[in-house]
Amino acid sequence: RANAEKFEFQAEVSRLMDIIINSLYSNKDIFLRELISNASDALDKIRFLSLTDKEILGEGDNAKLDIQIKLDKEKKILSIRDRGIGMTKEDLIKNLGTIAKSGTSAFVEKMQTSGDLNLIGQFGVGFYSVYLVADYVEVISKHNDDKQYVWESKADGAFAISEDVWNEPLGRGTEIRLHLREEAGEYLEEAKLKELVKRYSEFINFPIYLWASKEVDVEVPADEDESSDEEETSDSSSSEEEVEDEDAEKKPKSKTVKETTYEWELLNDVKAIWLRNPKEVTEEEYTKFYQSLAKDFSEEKPLSWSHFTAEGDVEFKAVLFVPPKAPHDLYESYYNTKKSNLKLYVRRVFISDEFDELLPKYLNFLKGLVDSDTLPLNVSREMLQQHSSLKTIKKKLIRKALDMIRKIAEEDPDESNDKDKKDVEKSSDDDEKKGQYAKFWNEFGKSIKLGIIEDASNRNRLAKLLRFESTKSGGKLASLDQYISRMKPGQKDIFYITGSSKEQLEKSPFLERLTKKNYEVIFFTDPVDEYLMQYLMDYEDKKFQNVSKEGLKLGKDSKYKDLKESFKDLTKWWKSALASENVDDVKISVLLSDTPCVVVTSKYGWSANMERIMQSQTL
Ligand code: ADP
Ligand code: MG
Repeated sequence: RANAEKFEFQAEVSRLMDIIINSLYSNKDIFLRELISNASDALDKIRFLSLTDKEILGEGDNAKLDIQIKLDKEKKILSIRDRGIGMTKEDLIKNLGTIAKSGTSAFVEKMQTSGDLNLIGQFGVGFYSVYLVADYVEVISKHNDDKQYVWESKADGAFAISEDVWNEPLGRGTEIRLHLREEAGEYLEEAKLKELVKRYSEFINFPIYLWASKEVDVEVPADEDESSDEEETSDSSSSEEEVEDEDAEKKPKSKTVKETTYEWELLNDVKAIWLRNPKEVTEEEYTKFYQSLAKDFSEEKPLSWSHFTAEGDVEFKAVLFVPPKAPHDLYESYYNTKKSNLKLYVRRVFISDEFDELLPKYLNFLKGLVDSDTLPLNVSREMLQQHSSLKTIKKKLIRKALDMIRKIAEEDPDESNDKDKKDVEKSSDDDEKKGQYAKFWNEFGKSIKLGIIEDASNRNRLAKLLRFESTKSGGKLASLDQYISRMKPGQKDIFYITGSSKEQLEKSPFLERLTKKNYEVIFFTDPVDEYLMQYLMDYEDKKFQNVSKEGLKLGKDSKYKDLKESFKDLTKWWKSALASENVDDVKISVLLSDTPCVVVTSKYGWSANMERIMQSQTL
């Protein structure tokens, strides 16, 4: 094109495209879902803006917020069009090629090992999946603030942008034209597209139409001698026509033939699952809703969900999900991203998915949606962000989220050490729930620990969710409640020890005496545990005691006084000998049994493990 301006893809994007083009990945269907999801996002954006500016939607067809799919079998083109916000020239340059999103390199890296292309949407690069099925793609877009442009690329490292002087004006929105590869002919079949929309885009909140062919009967003048044909026709025709039949003999005879016409066929029913009665929503529907919400199309079901209505001063409906797996960057970006994963709707209108006021950071791993009738619709996002109801919503969401997580444990047969429970009849989904909490803990345990550190008002609730291994847990996970139930008579404190691995800790001299006396000691081996234990001081009136720090008491020991007296001179000499080595004190200990002596940290000092962590600076 004469007026085309050429651009090179950013290097990572280019690599990503190469991977996609050369991919042997068999499930190429996913591109459609990604395009529909982008169209839906663009529609959400314009609808949101229209809340405060009615004019923005324009008139007539322009104001229709829908998605249209069209096929051109001859030219082998599949096009998807939306009347969303559209892209300016600058948007096209930035969004489709020159600025790599944070997920790009993570996705490239993943694909080079054993990644699942199906998860492309989660990495924020879903658009490029078009090159699974097309070798040439045009993006025609019109934003209210700019002229209409065409973006085009054959995925050869470059793309071009030109002012659109060829196509019909879009009014507003985006049309993506896929020039399908030879082997992608199936995407020109209407039945295939209908099936895909049903399967992947059931929960899109805008109508999706297909320009679908339809066989219709049309009357055409018949040849004089073909009267038998006419008889058949009148059998199947409507009663209205039968009335007319009376004069049929006077009129020239006609016959019915099949003809193909086209019309927009609605493929989805736009229902908001969260407005329905939870009792009437099936498990499969929740799973599919989760997939579309989280862009997580792995085969795994969410670990749990909670669908509820809050009533009172602040009314809202919400659905929360615990994903089956943590996203690739959950903890990587913990301290520098604010984004929560909840979508906020006000009276069915999508407002934002970047409201950090909805959930505290440590619950960022949850996916879900909140729809409130109490919040005002016609105010800016900034104003909403300061609305007093948000505090109430947040508080209730946290409560529900923690309940939902607790339930995973309660329903997990692996979790109960309660003997009575074992007699209860095995329910049919026992097997399905088995091991679910351990799975949760593996994926998101760190979030619970961060919660204990950050959320003082829910500390006890979160501590209930804590799991760990201990000297008595036999390689499994144990809870604080289990620990307490196993405490020895007269034991006041909860004992723990920190280090880099269980294997290392098991050999620790600090454990010798305690294990001999049959006390249980918790192993904390995650670097975050050191911080955790600075905040978790007690649980159910029991104090936590680090067994490698001074101050450990195991009840009375009558020998202690005698020993202290008889070794008085030795300790005195030793202390003065080590005075220059940063040693505060030398004391007699009754905690060791085989090891002659140990170095301990003072009560308020850093443990040896903390020293190690501070030196490597890893959290
Ligand atoms: P994501 O949807 O996760 O942001 P994509 O790779 O699917 O990532 O899309 C990249 C970007 O391109 C989007 O963020 C959006 O800005 C822009 N975009 C893609 N499709 C459309 C569309 N139909 N209308 C408007 N903008 C779009
Ligand atoms: Mg997308």
